[in-house]
Amino acid sequence: MQPIVMAILLLLGWGVFAVSAYKRWNLMMVGASEKRGRFGDAGARIAATLRYAFWQERMPRYPWAGWAHRVIFFGFLVLLLRSLILWGRGFDADFNMWIFGIDQPLGKIYSFLKDFFAVLVILGTLVFFYYRLVKRLSRMTLSGEATLILVIIFVMMWSDVFYDGAEIVERARHADPALIASGETEERPASVVAFAWYEPAGSVAAMMLAGAGEGALITVKHLGFWTHAALVLIFLNILPYSKHFHVITAIPNVYTQDLSPPGRLPNLEDIDGMLERGETLGVKRINQFSWKAILDWYTCTECGRCSDQCPATTTGKKLSPKHFTLDLRDFLYENETELKAAKSRMNGSGQAGEGEEGAVEEEGEAPECYKDLVDGVIDPEVLWACTTCRACEVECPVFISYVDKIVDMRRYLVQERGEFPNELQGAFRGLESVGNPFGFPAEERAAWAEGLDVPRMSENPDADVLYWVGCMPSFEDRARKVAVAFAKLMKQAGVNFAILGEEETCTGDAARRAGNEYLFQMFAAQNVEVLNGYGIDKKTIVCTCPHCFNTLANEYPDFGGNYKVVHHTDFLADLVRQGKIKLSKRVDKKIAFHDSCYLGRYNEIYNGPRSALKSIPGLRIAEPVETRDRGMCCGAGGAQMFKEEEEGGARVNHMRVDQLMATGAEAVANACPFCTRMITDGLADKEKENVETLDVAELLLMATEEGDGAE
Ligand code: SF4
Ligand code: SF4
Repeated sequence: MQPIVMAILLLLGWGVFAVSAYKRWNLMMVGASEKRGRFGDAGARIAATLRYAFWQERMPRYPWAGWAHRVIFFGFLVLLLRSLILWGRGFDADFNMWIFGIDQPLGKIYSFLKDFFAVLVILGTLVFFYYRLVKRLSRMTLSGEATLILVIIFVMMWSDVFYDGAEIVERARHADPALIASGETEERPASVVAFAWYEPAGSVAAMMLAGAGEGALITVKHLGFWTHAALVLIFLNILPYSKHFHVITAIPNVYTQDLSPPGRLPNLEDIDGMLERGETLGVKRINQFSWKAILDWYTCTECGRCSDQCPATTTGKKLSPKHFTLDLRDFLYENETELKAAKSRMNGSGQAGEGEEGAVEEEGEAPECYKDLVDGVIDPEVLWACTTCRACEVECPVFISYVDKIVDMRRYLVQERGEFPNELQGAFRGLESVGNPFGFPAEERAAWAEGLDVPRMSENPDADVLYWVGCMPSFEDRARKVAVAFAKLMKQAGVNFAILGEEETCTGDAARRAGNEYLFQMFAAQNVEVLNGYGIDKKTIVCTCPHCFNTLANEYPDFGGNYKVVHHTDFLADLVRQGKIKLSKRVDKKIAFHDSCYLGRYNEIYNGPRSALKSIPGLRIAEPVETRDRGMCCGAGGAQMFKEEEEGGARVNHMRVDQLMATGAEAVANACPFCTRMITDGLADKEKENVETLDVAELLLMATEEGDGAE
């Protein structure tokens, strides 16, 4: 075709892209390095990448947009080869990568797939045009740039189809007479083009072009060819400067995701050298976030699914996870030059972090990039509104994490600036002085068990099971009833169990999520010592609180505590299955089951509680629309239980109660003492005191001989 033009186009397109990609790479490298492995366990990473980046398993959670995105992505994969072929044809008009010629079997198959996906991509873009221009979905960023990308894709597909159409007509008109004579191809009148299965879209375009004159045909062919060949390169060069950068970064972002359990928060030591360098505890500056956080920001597609599911956003708080990401990303881009300069100063002087910042400040030229992120870029209210429910992370199609970043910034606020909501002061004081956030005397920890003949571990060291009670069931009146019900069921089943009693303290879950890492680590060390002292690593721990469950199972291994931890709903379901708990009475109720975030989204325990509930005669389970991994948070996680909710349009527990009541249920079943408290309060606020909130253990006990049933 035009070798010189094509060569210039390719050199320019790829050259400019290489410069942009190099800039973005260098900017990513201003982030801190991590000790946490991001490349180990290649098998699991490849499997996750195939599942989530290529198959895009999370996309169809929003069915229309999800499937539209899927087909556009698959179309891109198929049409990537087509672009290579077209670039080759710029140098040799018959270039088909040697095996993809239309007269070859592979060429026919590829040609069919290409046309098939070109049509699907056109349909996919129409869905997004509808969402962006007609429906104007508020969760999406309705920018001109995103619309321009859609236009590019749309035009690229049509140009390809019409380029093919013109070529088919040309082929028909200039069929080789020798082939016609041999019967290998048909002679056709110039104006008639037959439909070929392997060129479905091209054939239709050819039929439309069949009557065109030679000049018009050549124009369409050249226009189609150059439009496709050039638009791919224009598209490529827009990517690094737009939300569509995810086209390139999504695959590495999914590949380098944190493979440790979602319930394990990173330790301060996970950022390489943070403590040794005497950096702030927690994240103050943008370049204290790691390179992986920057890759997360590059990858955000601005789809808004995270905020759409976030209980803080949906109840009108200042926190929107999508905007949290975008604000940090914008700040990073705005300070690109300074951050890169700071990085080279650090490399040159060996001084890093605070030391580097101090040295620059002494020279009176502290750059903007060292600005304190809290207040400077992110409002503290944004940070404190997070319930750490993980709804955003489970929804994000490209595995962007939030809880770790928010907690890292809370750590800085609490540990360096000593700033946190007033009400947390009381919880921290209680934790420090008596080992529970309520401030009750430690010696009252086992008061709930009085008269139940529940032994301490010190009295029954041979117990098979340790019941880890937790602060809520130990001290809070409503949750104490759950502890009692659970202990009674364990006794009925003949389980040899014990509690730690006064030797138990808070696991530190709330302190850690509130940013008080020091306090958390103190509890972790103390509890692990006690547990290991009793040889609990060879026994089973059962928890009635999903927060304790999560911390013991997922976070204590970092502190030398490796235990088999089971949630009481799973444990009870198993006892029922084994026939050790006999359910003889009917509980004729329609209940709505509320999933706890720390049980479900964090630990994927959805079936245990349901299985236990299903075994109760007469009980009917109503699932709210927002259920399982889409179940809305009750509003208590992430230390929210011990502070006032941030100002907003609604309270989280009120919205959740509305969702649960929409099922028409007469009662709510829970598997978490925090949820029970929040839902009970929400029902009371909504003047629905007649609706009971019951733990799974309480419902099971009602159905046993010892219980009252409910007819
Ligand atoms: S963890 Fe929950 S509350 Fe926090 S940003 Fe994500 S969705 Fe919102
Ligand atoms: S963080 Fe994920 S879910 Fe949220 S807008 Fe970005 S890509 Fe979408």
